[in-house]
Amino acid sequence: MNLMTLDFASAQDSHDGCDDASHNHAGHDSSAHHHAPAAKPAVPEEVQEAIRTLLRFAGEDPSREGLIDTPARVGRAWLEYCQGYREDPSVHLTRTFEEVGGYDEIVLLRDIPFQSHCEHHMAPITGKASIAYLPNNRVVGISKLARVLHGYARRLQVQERLTAEVAQCIWDHLQPQGVAVVIEAQHGCMTGRGVCTPGVGMVTSRMLGCFLQDASSRREVMSLMGRG
Ligand SMILES: [Zn+2]
Repeated sequence: MNLMTLDFASAQDSHDGCDDASHNHAGHDSSAHHHAPAAKPAVPEEVQEAIRTLLRFAGEDPSREGLIDTPARVGRAWLEYCQGYREDPSVHLTRTFEEVGGYDEIVLLRDIPFQSHCEHHMAPITGKASIAYLPNNRVVGISKLARVLHGYARRLQVQERLTAEVAQCIWDHLQPQGVAVVIEAQHGCMTGRGVCTPGVGMVTSRMLGCFLQDASSRREVMSLMGRG
C-alpha cells in the first residue's frame, strides 16, 4: 500500500506554518523583538484580584515586587491557553481539494506537539498527537490537521475528550473512509503533584470508520504511527 506520511516538523509549509500571534509569551515582555506588537488584551480588575487571592492562598505575598504584574500576565496567558473557546476548529477543514491525482491511501500527520490544560486541575497537558485519515476524494492541506488539534487543545480538557473531538471533527467535515487519532501526553497534575510520576505518558486513541471496523486497516495505521 502506498502512503503519505509526514512528520510534523516537515509539514509546516511557508504560508501556513507558524501560529504567529499565539507565541507572544505573556510572561516575557519581549515586545522589542516583535514587529508591531499587538495591544495587550485588558485583564479586568476582578480577574486580577482573583489571581492575587490564589497567590495569597498558596502562601505568597501578591504585593511583592516580582509579583506586581503577575495577575495581568496570568490573565492574558489564560486567554491564550483557552483561545480555542473563541474558534470553531472545523473552519480549518472547509477548504478541501478534490484533485488528488487518484491518491486514495492513508494521510498521516505524525507526532504533532501540543499543549492543553486539564479541566480538573487547570494543569498543563503536554504531548504529541498523530492524526490519520483515509480520504474519500477530499483532502485538506495537511497542516490543517494540526490546527484542528490546537483548536480543541486550547481549552480545558480531559485527554480522552480531546482525542475524540479531534477525530469526530475530521470525520464530520471531511467525511473520509476512516479517521485515527492517537495522543500520548503527560499531565502536570500527575507529574508535578499528587503521585508525582514524571515521565509517565498516557495514551488515548479514537478510531472511526474503516480503522474501527477493519482490523488490518487499524494495524496498518498504528504501524505507520510507530505503534504497530
Ligand atoms: Zn488534572
